[in-house]
Amino acid sequence: MMLFTQRCFLLRHTPGKLRLRAAGARCCSTVHGEVRVRFAPSPTGFLHLGGLRTALYNYIFAKKYGGSFVLRLEDTDQSRLVPGAAESIEDMLEWAGVPPDESPRRGGPVGPYLQSQRLDLYGQTAQQLVESNHAYYCFCSTQRLNLLKKEALRMGQTPRYDNRCRHLQPKQVQEKLAQEVPRVIRFRLEEGVEPFQDLIFGWSHHEVAKVEGDPVVIKADGFPTYHLANIVDDHYMRISHVLRGSEWLISTSKHLLMYRALGWQPPTFGHLPLLMNKDGGKLSKRQGDIFIERFQRDGVLPEALLDITTNCGSGFSSNRIGRRLDELISEFNPSKITTHSALLDLEKLPEFNRIHLQHRIKDEEQCQMLIKDLQGQIQQAYTAEIQDEEVLHKDYIRRVLHLRKGHICSLKELVSPTFSYLWVRPSISSQQVAAITADAEHIASLVLKLVAERGEDLAVDRLSEDLKALAKQTKATKYREVMKLLRLALSGLQQGPSVAELMVCLGPVEIRHRLQKLVLLSETS
Ligand code: GLU
Repeated sequence: MMLFTQRCFLLRHTPGKLRLRAAGARCCSTVHGEVRVRFAPSPTGFLHLGGLRTALYNYIFAKKYGGSFVLRLEDTDQSRLVPGAAESIEDMLEWAGVPPDESPRRGGPVGPYLQSQRLDLYGQTAQQLVESNHAYYCFCSTQRLNLLKKEALRMGQTPRYDNRCRHLQPKQVQEKLAQEVPRVIRFRLEEGVEPFQDLIFGWSHHEVAKVEGDPVVIKADGFPTYHLANIVDDHYMRISHVLRGSEWLISTSKHLLMYRALGWQPPTFGHLPLLMNKDGGKLSKRQGDIFIERFQRDGVLPEALLDITTNCGSGFSSNRIGRRLDELISEFNPSKITTHSALLDLEKLPEFNRIHLQHRIKDEEQCQMLIKDLQGQIQQAYTAEIQDEEVLHKDYIRRVLHLRKGHICSLKELVSPTFSYLWVRPSISSQQVAAITADAEHIASLVLKLVAERGEDLAVDRLSEDLKALAKQTKATKYREVMKLLRLALSGLQQGPSVAELMVCLGPVEIRHRLQKLVLLSETS
């Protein structure tokens, strides 16, 4: 039992009677029993941002209230299963840092967590509904159903089943069953739906019987449909709160009718507003640009992804870039979830990644993992070109990371051609040198002397000062040109980080290598 003050969000329904007080009133209440939430995707595709966001809110809710987060795979539509999607969904939740407590892979006390392995349970429940006259066998042929549909469309109406088999006599039903006429089971939709208090959308109520025919709950292949399997599992998995996308809001009245027919206490429902593009359009899946695996491949940090998906939406008193999961959990306030769509601006993702990468670099343990990751990337990108294995040493890579933190948005940047000089000595020509100054040898010797004096003790600020002072001794070449020359010799480039940073980054041994090469070049020019 857990006590806390909330805007009535965590009260649970009692059958036939809602215990929620007026929305908006603040109250102190008690949550009975444990909080159990679930994410229930269908493995008909890979995990995308919308799905991750639903999972994340469930995860945060569970952790905030000391509950459990369940992953259940709703694979009852066998014709639409995508190979590998089930495993990948769980992989991606783990990668994102929101692993389920119970799942197909992890197991748990109320498994199996894959609907195709729970068919008996749905069959038994459907039987129970048939026996109590809340459901019935329907023997209508596909042909008849198609005709009904055509006729409705011709009349400009929405197609719906006409509930014909509701009126079959028990004897007729027995005969057809004995003759093994193909059949489905339909749930009898009653009128008089009770309103329910959605955590986010407030009082809701859809007179489903007025707009829909009786829905199929067991298909001809013996598999359940979503509506039945979903409520059966939420019941047997002891789900306390259903937090799911708002596209399911209108189905909830139907679900509540089923709960009532079965005499089960329903969970509390909360429908999350849609996630949309910043212009209000649907998030496109066309180029695969919102699939989580794609973000992972592109070097996006999971915490940046979680941060951006919660920043555009609701559930927090304020938006703030840089929040990590523990902060998201402590700052989350379900009463702040609003009904309007969350507008996501993916153009800001690099900025979120930059901030979170900086956090990781500052944390030694996480930095070690970045170092390993970068070592792999360097080896892959520059295999044959690396002249000195020293660039793969963890101390060198750590130094690079610390100097570049706050500037780079992803580790990949560091292996791009712009930063190749970090791993491979640049090739420069005597003409390039001569175009800057005729005094290169002298400048190089001054810098070499400076580096020898400083030894290992190189620091960016101090070196900047030293270089300014040094340029005073190079009368024929101005400070700007001295910097240009050093930048060329050290990185092969005309722009980039400051020369002092380049030097600190490369370290005395490597500076010596590159400046000696400069001396050689100026001798030959
Ligand atoms: N399988 C449904 C989906 O993929 C689950 C909806 C729900 O959470 O009830 O969206």
